[in-house]
Amino acid sequence: MSSHNDVVIRLIPNLSSFSGSDLKVTTPIDGSEIASLRLDTPAEVDAKIAKSVEAFKKWREVPGPRRGELVRLFGEKLRAHKEDLAKLVTLECGKILEEGRGEVQEMIDICDFAVGLSRQLYGLTIASERPNHTMQENWLPLGPVGIISAFNFPVAVWAWNTCLALVCGDPVLWKPSEKTPLTALACQHLFDQVAAEFPGAPEGLSQVIVGGAQEGNQMVEDERVPLISATGSSRMGRIVGPKVAARFGRSLLELGGNNAIIVTPTADLNVAIPSILFGSVGTAGQRCTSTRRVIVHRSLFDKVFETLAAAYRQIGETKIGDPLDGSTLVGPLIDESAFKGMQAAIERVRAEAGDVVGGERTLEDKFPHGYYAKPAIVRLPAQSKTIHDETFAPLTYVIPYDTIEEALEIHNAVPQGLSSAIMTTDVREAEFFKRHSDCGIANVNIGTSGAEIGGAFGGEKETGGGRESGSDAWKAYMRRQTSTTFYGRERPTLAQGIKFDL
Ligand code: NAD
Repeated sequence: MSSHNDVVIRLIPNLSSFSGSDLKVTTPIDGSEIASLRLDTPAEVDAKIAKSVEAFKKWREVPGPRRGELVRLFGEKLRAHKEDLAKLVTLECGKILEEGRGEVQEMIDICDFAVGLSRQLYGLTIASERPNHTMQENWLPLGPVGIISAFNFPVAVWAWNTCLALVCGDPVLWKPSEKTPLTALACQHLFDQVAAEFPGAPEGLSQVIVGGAQEGNQMVEDERVPLISATGSSRMGRIVGPKVAARFGRSLLELGGNNAIIVTPTADLNVAIPSILFGSVGTAGQRCTSTRRVIVHRSLFDKVFETLAAAYRQIGETKIGDPLDGSTLVGPLIDESAFKGMQAAIERVRAEAGDVVGGERTLEDKFPHGYYAKPAIVRLPAQSKTIHDETFAPLTYVIPYDTIEEALEIHNAVPQGLSSAIMTTDVREAEFFKRHSDCGIANVNIGTSGAEIGGAFGGEKETGGGRESGSDAWKAYMRRQTSTTFYGRERPTLAQGIKFDL
């Protein structure tokens, strides 16, 4: 894979300083090794946290708009290296190059957002009930932010967190997925170049911790890290959330999804079908917002299922392949265990009367160590138990409904609550859906995946309740302080009119 090595060397010229034999980094494209790294020792993790604490003391004193300027320059750096970084994303996590570019664009977009935000970290002026008093709510920097990220968005999620944290006055410690550490080292190298030339940027403003669950856990349990922003499976969140809470830390959890699109009788199928296809098959079904369930009105059920099944067959025959090849729409699964998880779910759902199209392994001749699966679509008479689990693969369940109330009941019956969508031209159904979907995202005539950075991103229930990226998500990275000042010359009065005179 010499051409692949080129991009690694260009983006991480200092790779040899991370080399070791603890962690083999492979590409899901063909399973070949692209690097071998050393894990951070407990002492090294400890030293990085200590350095972050020191960086915080300096960075919090830098004015917000100056902090924004550093993020602006980082955005420029990303623009200059977009193509290489996109290629590395594709190489390490297997998403098609077009989506790799989209992911880097998302980093650039959040840089721009954060630059504007750096001048808008607004507090409040509140009316005091007492004469000659002012009351304010101020937002202050919080401290080191520990970021744990998943393999499927190896760089964008870090950027969402980091750009906001930096303008809010916080340094970051990043424990990337053990499946995608190279993209993290590449981002770190780009960031270091910008920080080195920026007056006032302390050493250790952003640091990477190379490791897996154990190294992540060290950060989770360390009380010097006031905020842990963890993205990954609900299984991981169930472990991390209580540990952070036990030390009265703050956690921002972005966990698993089980997202559905409801197709109503008035849906425009020219809008609905492409949205379902991108949502369910795009990124090989490996997005937290991937469409896993399609809940279709019985009057359209056969037509929608057959149209989708034909498209799935066509994609399975002609559009799966090397994600670096421009004509590919579906790349590999991340690894063998993802493929096995998909097969196990297919077996279970078959036993629950599911009629399955696709799902077989493909391209085994060309890539014996790559796991490429034909997208699978399953016709089911009703929502079954298997569907309650998130299977991180291109596996879509199609379920019929009769009334919109029943559709929402089916929709909300799963434990996760990330993204949802309805396909309708009936404004009443659209509004009913928005009020009753229990998800953090509820779209109309737009699929479940592919969010813009301007909105707050996240979900309810087992998705963890966190919000990242746009809107007022920045508030998670700061501490709120209420401040009352008395400026009169007379004796100050007590709140609630309490008298306490000598
Ligand atoms: P994962 O849970 O296996 O790993 C995610 C990260 O958590 C990795 O960095 C891993 O090392 C770390 N980790 C695991 N156990 C830990 C522990 N006990 N303590 C500390 N750190 C620990 O997830 P994955 O397979 O990399 O990613 C896929 C999952 O992530 C899916 O469930 C997907 O829905 C979810 N995801 C959610 C979002 C979101 O924004 N809601 C975004 C992307 C992915």
